[in-house]
Amino acid sequence: MKTMTCKQLGGPCGYAHHGESADDVINAQDRHLKEMEAAGDVAHQPARDEMKARWRKPVSGLRWYRDAKRRFADLPDD
Ligand SMILES: [Zn+2]
Repeated sequence: MKTMTCKQLGGPCGYAHHGESADDVINAQDRHLKEMEAAGDVAHQPARDEMKARWRKPVSGLRWYRDAKRRFADLPDD
């Protein structure tokens, strides 16, 4: 199990996501950004827009995804 924060995934806060894989924490961050957007949190809006843009632009989106996976792999286990 590893921990990655909202901030480590491009967001503005220190909310911690726990997961066994990079996909787990990336999906958790996606959910977190959606929830913050739904709650009207403007601080998370830029990160939420970037997350949306990544699905629209597969090439640059994939690069971000690979970077996030590498950073996750470099983290120590909890
Ligand atoms: Zn956050």
